[in-house]
Amino acid sequence: MITVVQIVFVLGLIILIILFVFETRRHREVIPLPDDFREILSDYVRFYRELSDKEKEDFEKRVEYFLSSVQITGVGAQVEDLDRLLIGAGAIIPVFAFPDWQYINLHEVLLYPGTFNEDYDQSGADRPISGMVGSGAMQNVMILSKWQLRQGFINSHDASNTAIHEFVHLIDKMDGTVDGVPEIILERKYVPQWVSLMEETIRKMKSNGSDINFYGSTNHAEFFAVISEYFFEKPDALRELHPDLFDMLQRIFRTR
Ligand SMILES: [Zn+2]
Repeated sequence: MITVVQIVFVLGLIILIILFVFETRRHREVIPLPDDFREILSDYVRFYRELSDKEKEDFEKRVEYFLSSVQITGVGAQVEDLDRLLIGAGAIIPVFAFPDWQYINLHEVLLYPGTFNEDYDQSGADRPISGMVGSGAMQNVMILSKWQLRQGFINSHDASNTAIHEFVHLIDKMDGTVDGVPEIILERKYVPQWVSLMEETIRKMKSNGSDINFYGSTNHAEFFAVISEYFFEKPDALRELHPDLFDMLQRIFRTR
């Protein structure tokens, strides 16, 4: 005999299933890229320009998926199609060799007009920060400066790209620590070699100077982010001037 309790239970279950399906659908909804996305990517993103037609298609799909799953919010800055596409490109470039990659540790990117300081002040003299990955209350949030974001792609041969820098911090953070060792993508057996290569290079940077951005000598995490910018912006120069680093970064980002 069917009791009222059983009917209520079954009805409840049905409602839960409907909600679940609806939720999953909602999250999978893909927001199409703007009409002129190919033009914008070709004009601004050298990495994209150099891909084959098939790879370009993959890249576009992944940028679209990324932009559909992460909220981009302007804070005193207008978020234009160009900014959205550049943020998507910065996200996908370092993980292009990992087809199923998802930035599960990122929900929102805040776009500030210019640089800011550690208290997120956007005006005043001491504003050295052009991008950051949040922690604590800002967990799962990235902040980028619109001006620096664009400069990073406009000057595509200066070994500096704020978006790539910040996304590399996120990749590094995926294993729980931001320490310059992306354990989620670097095979364990190469970790000691990578750590000693970082240490040796930082030591050389401090004593002899280097063409590597000096900010990279701050700590291992900054070194990894800075040298990754160099790797994606000026791969040929890095291969020639720092072959060991180039080899290791190829291993990390699986680009060979
Ligand atoms: Zn950094």
